[in-house]
Amino acid sequence: MSTTALLGEAIEAVIMASRVARAVQADLDAVREITKDDRSPVTVADFAVQAIVAMELQRQFRSPLIVGEEHAGALRKDDQKEVRMAVVKAVQSELPSVSEDEVLDAIDACDHDGSADAYWTLDPVDGTKGFLRGQQYAIALAHIEKGEVTLGVMGCPNLPSDHSRPLDVADSIGTAYAATKGCGAWEYDTSNPNGDTRPITAPTYENGSPIRTCESVEKSHSKHDDTARILEHLGVQSDPVRLDSQCKYAVVARNQADAYLRLPTRADYREKIWDHAAGMLIATEAGAVVSDITGRALDFTHGQRLEENRGVICAAADLHPQIIEAIDALGIAAATAG
Ligand code: AMP
Ligand code: MG
Repeated sequence: MSTTALLGEAIEAVIMASRVARAVQADLDAVREITKDDRSPVTVADFAVQAIVAMELQRQFRSPLIVGEEHAGALRKDDQKEVRMAVVKAVQSELPSVSEDEVLDAIDACDHDGSADAYWTLDPVDGTKGFLRGQQYAIALAHIEKGEVTLGVMGCPNLPSDHSRPLDVADSIGTAYAATKGCGAWEYDTSNPNGDTRPITAPTYENGSPIRTCESVEKSHSKHDDTARILEHLGVQSDPVRLDSQCKYAVVARNQADAYLRLPTRADYREKIWDHAAGMLIATEAGAVVSDITGRALDFTHGQRLEENRGVICAAADLHPQIIEAIDALGIAAATAG
């Protein structure tokens, strides 16, 4: 099947799932109330989104292989009844006739290991902490063929469609992004996917100008001190914008940041494909360069993890080599090799 044929369905599934995630986020306190657990709102959204995307892909394509982050095992247990009911209710808000069993089976159908020639990968709610804080998160869906990401779609329900608005607060319109390999990247409004479709272009960087950077909020996901050292080495003063999820790739792709730095905090951590496939393609197709911290391209030929990569640098094409050189000069890659 052609990538273009996959694209329309992928966008539709992500937009539908974005509406569900947004509704769960808007009702965080109510979900917490029923489930008596602070983490359950994100659990409800994770499972509901994975079920919706899986069911939409299954409806359109015969037996799609999906590498999804979640598994329904825990959700099937007796003590998870409240969470399970909340998940089914959230899915039924978009697909009213589905049963509990269909929802659980759809979640469990996303158990591919990434070894086939062609498969989907899904992070139903990337940026869990952002979701719980009412800030940024993303629904990230990508298609991988023979180790190459050919399609990426990302729902960013809280990322402002007005680029002049602050990034750390929720937006009532929200955005979505889509890219196919070799064909560019586009931005849509989450609430109106059939409306305006805007091509997006990553920045061009001029030597000596300030560098607008972004990085994870969580310092356990990216070493903030190393970002500061790199900027100092490059001779620039700037405070990185911190936001959760693959929204960071979109922020570079739409020319709101010159670079997204993800600097390893541990030698043994391997990035997961669902945390990068969609965002990487969207940023690359917008004209940015994406690699790991040694400058090596992200390698999607090793199943569920980026076994051969460490960290991620996504930057304007002219700036990317300077960041890699700075990382090398500071010995950052060597410090977290392993
Ligand atoms: P972010 O919102 O960019 O901070 O990234 C969220 C993702 O970080 C989650 O989906 C996790 O899979 C991933 N993650 C968890 N632990 C680490 C770690 N030690 N280093 C890098 N990423 C991590
Ligand atoms: Mg994630």
